[in-house]
Amino acid sequence: MHKFKYIYGPVPSWRLGSSLGVDPVSKGRKICNFDCVYCQIGKTDLFTKERIKNIETGEIVAELAKLPPLKIDYITFSGAGEPTLAVNLGEMIKAVKLIRKEPIAVITNSSLMLLDEVRKELALADFVIAKLDAYSPGSLQEINRPAKGIEFGSILDGIRKFREEYKGKLALQIMFIQNNKQEIDKYIYLANYIKPDEIQVNTPLRNCNIRPLMKEDIRKIKNDFICACKGINIVSVYDEKDPKVIKSISDEETLKRRGKIK
Ligand code: SF4
Repeated sequence: MHKFKYIYGPVPSWRLGSSLGVDPVSKGRKICNFDCVYCQIGKTDLFTKERIKNIETGEIVAELAKLPPLKIDYITFSGAGEPTLAVNLGEMIKAVKLIRKEPIAVITNSSLMLLDEVRKELALADFVIAKLDAYSPGSLQEINRPAKGIEFGSILDGIRKFREEYKGKLALQIMFIQNNKQEIDKYIYLANYIKPDEIQVNTPLRNCNIRPLMKEDIRKIKNDFICACKGINIVSVYDEKDPKVIKSISDEETLKRRGKIK
């Protein structure tokens, strides 16, 4: 079987169904502009806020062309790092759309969304999942530990601007841990300000140094959002999953991106 380097999965995803991952930037190393306390992938190898071209668009297309027949609900740009750091993200999304019929999702940490070119590229996707773990400048430093120059205000403005322009589906993903679970009122305020289509209530269930919240805590947070954010779909990582078995095309590359092997 062909050994894939940049695509992995499909993985069963609680928010995307059967999701085939495309890693547009990492090439086996974690490249990110955050260093989240709960990151499952581990230490950041390249900590940068500059957009770079680490993988040619043609390399992604060549791998996709070798895919065996698979049932895929979404082709998802994610992986071991922040996908919007790939300066050719938009070019990649356009190229994938030419050869595949599945909808495209991007999971981003939202750090670069204030850049016009990043919003333009993200708008090519059908579903954008934007991280908003912080509710203040201090909590951004505490939870996401961003590269110098990335500010809470610019993240918020970037997501809000994107919401105003974007016609596709936008979700806010919020990672709840002990440090921020008391701040639900602030997240409700921010969610109603941004007006996403969906809120994804998450807690770190994968292997990392932070203990996840228990089901009761997450159920309460989800219910608070349901009561206060009318018209927004609310899902949580503890929601019932589809038990179907999804066979991966490349176990090693998939496990790396899920933090199960380094
Ligand atoms: S969780 Fe995502 S955004 Fe945070 S450090 Fe890890 S790869 Fe970067």
